[in-house]
Amino acid sequence: MNFKQIIEEVYLKVKKLDDKGQLATYIPELAKVDSENFGVYISTVDGLSFGIGNCYEKFSIQSIAKVLSLSLGYRLIGEKIWERLGVEPSGTAFNSLVQLETDNGIPRNPFINAGAMVVCDLLLSNLENPKEDFLAFVRSTAGNPELHYSKKIAASESAVGFRNVALCNFIKSFGNIRNKPWEVLDFYFDLCSLEMNCRELSEVFLFLANNGRNTSNNTQILTKSQSKRVNAIMLTCGFYDQSGDFAFRVGLPGKSGVGGGIVAVHPNAYSIAVWSPKLNEKGNSYKGMKFLEEFTTRSELSIF
Ligand code: GLU
Repeated sequence: MNFKQIIEEVYLKVKKLDDKGQLATYIPELAKVDSENFGVYISTVDGLSFGIGNCYEKFSIQSIAKVLSLSLGYRLIGEKIWERLGVEPSGTAFNSLVQLETDNGIPRNPFINAGAMVVCDLLLSNLENPKEDFLAFVRSTAGNPELHYSKKIAASESAVGFRNVALCNFIKSFGNIRNKPWEVLDFYFDLCSLEMNCRELSEVFLFLANNGRNTSNNTQILTKSQSKRVNAIMLTCGFYDQSGDFAFRVGLPGKSGVGGGIVAVHPNAYSIAVWSPKLNEKGNSYKGMKFLEEFTTRSELSIF
């Protein structure tokens, strides 16, 4: 498959489109990003790679990091993790409080904010130095020591994250947060502030295209079954209230973030990262969605 040619053609086509998206402004630092950025990078399980556009510029991966925190939590405590989290799409906004009341504080899935906070809580309980240990896990998964949290982004979100504060305290009232809410939030804001470029993002997710196994050093990060399950949750819950539409148009498991990044995984084949900061009305990168739809349509490769 000539990915390079398809990516070049689709990139140039989508670049010319009128971007109907808007920058995320509710986190003040995110509103300062140059909205013209557009990058793509693919890494295959066979060791091939190709990038185009602003693929070496770091951006805030935001909710995409929730897949990595879930992976570490799942690796640490196994199936017990599902006693505290569901695996259903929520059909509501990523920062919604409503279902928690009737669901007794059990978040519908690990990728909505409520679910990611429960995962942060779990990591706080199971790691000696949670922030450092999580970062070390991400770096070793990527084989890249140049990955960092952004203190600026974390502080910017923390200053206005009133809804997340409410969510965390609400879950605590049901007993599904075991640590102090402020500690969980502090970790959560750092988690969301992780920065990567498209190359790094595609590389760190490659293990999910490789049945849970690291392609460079052959270590098993997740079991084959765990990797399948994380991919299944990405397919059903990875794109807020547009997950069905993404499965329909693109046909791959993936995850988006409000920084305008999207990563998608083709099991046994590749991991691809796209970044374009303006978001559609559902909170997903406008051009990122267009690019991936066209890419899997032209390559005629999807999981279906
Ligand atoms: N840090 C963001 C928030 O909690 C993450 C949102 C996202 O990327 O979906 O609002």
